[in-house]
Amino acid sequence: ALAQADEAPAELARRERIFASAQERYYERPPQIERGWRHHLVDTTGRAYVDMVNNVTGLGHGHPGVADAVNRQIRILNTNSRFLYRELAEYSERLLALLPDDAREGSADRDALDTVLLVNSGSEAVDLALRVAQAATGRKTVVSLREAYHGWTMASDAVTTSAYDNPDALATRPDWVHVADVPNLFRGTYRGEGAGARYAADLGADLDRLAEEGRPIAAFICESVLGNAGGVLLPDGYLADAYARVRAAGGLCIADEVQVGFGRMGSSFWGFEQSGVVPDLITIAKPMGNGFPIGGVITSQRIADALAGQGQFFSSAGGNPLSCRVGIAVLDAMAAEGLQENARVVGGRLAEGFRALAERHPLIGPVHGEGLYLGVELVRDRESMEPAASEAAAICERLRELGVIVLTTSERSNVLKIKPPLCLTAASADFVVAALDRVLSEGW
Ligand code: PMP
Repeated sequence: ALAQADEAPAELARRERIFASAQERYYERPPQIERGWRHHLVDTTGRAYVDMVNNVTGLGHGHPGVADAVNRQIRILNTNSRFLYRELAEYSERLLALLPDDAREGSADRDALDTVLLVNSGSEAVDLALRVAQAATGRKTVVSLREAYHGWTMASDAVTTSAYDNPDALATRPDWVHVADVPNLFRGTYRGEGAGARYAADLGADLDRLAEEGRPIAAFICESVLGNAGGVLLPDGYLADAYARVRAAGGLCIADEVQVGFGRMGSSFWGFEQSGVVPDLITIAKPMGNGFPIGGVITSQRIADALAGQGQFFSSAGGNPLSCRVGIAVLDAMAAEGLQENARVVGGRLAEGFRALAERHPLIGPVHGEGLYLGVELVRDRESMEPAASEAAAICERLRELGVIVLTTSERSNVLKIKPPLCLTAASADFVVAALDRVLSEGW
């Protein structure tokens, strides 16, 4: 079976005939996956892998609760979301109940978050949040951070600034997008103490300039933890300061929680809670449906109502009875299985394991993130932080041979992204750390 695994699967040639070259695939010689179970994937030769990258399948693969929900609901009712049925309000209420108490209440500078718009993906959620924010403010300009990924639709792609996804990203943003400096404490303009305030002050200066140019801000969008940069935590005080400046300039704050929200941080359900802020709009997707396509925007009624000025908003499948039932089943399972807490405990153990490896393997630089959103940054030199990109790619290939699926992220492709299903066990976490130890001991 192992010999077979080394041969390129027939499916690869088939896929290559049909797919466009822009369609990303992983690995030079990817295993052909046949089945998934919890945090494992199994290929057609029967080989099992620990899946360290599937954050979409937050509960784990093949979850029986989700399977039952799909099976039951699709036999009873699935209709487009113009009709009146119970599931939409029930699921929306469940989502709102996940917000921190202060978010469900308004304050002097923002409304209560009490309204949910459901769509089918993260890109749609971001697209819609931008549109709602522009409608509510009557302005166009959106500020997004360098090195961000927010989606593939026209608007969500417009605020995507990562050269990982598009080497020409910065040169080709439309004029309604302003790109602000990314507050990356490890590689950015400011690094030490007080860096958060300095980045926020620079953002404030950008906002002043935009206003002077007659392009006042409609919305500021960022991930609450820099997911696509490798799980880099925002500097202390940055987000609170940035949100205050955006609001003072009349803009709305969008937290893109597609990757880092929904329990993955372990210590908090939402990424923005880490910074003690409350956004005006929250975008969610990936783990909401455990692989079933669901996305959403959580905001206030007042902000969402601005859409009415642009005609009706309607998504045929967004919020249909089936996707709502799946969403409810996911939330039930997350609670019943204590997955947020598991993310905290097992994620902490993993991070500790990686940091211990760093003491013996100089290729490991900073270990980013929290809970089960971690990034192991590989560098050729810890002082210069020279990215070890080719090493990172080779390490991923070698880890695959040892039964661990892990991939790279960041603009420099030198961060091992660790975002497994939240059901990852301590035993599997230890296995992954041991496998990385073994690979790094093989002579890098
Ligand atoms: N926002 C963020 C932060 C993302 O990481 C992604 C997907 N990687 C998206 C939005 C887009 O989500 P989707 O792929 O579901 O359209």
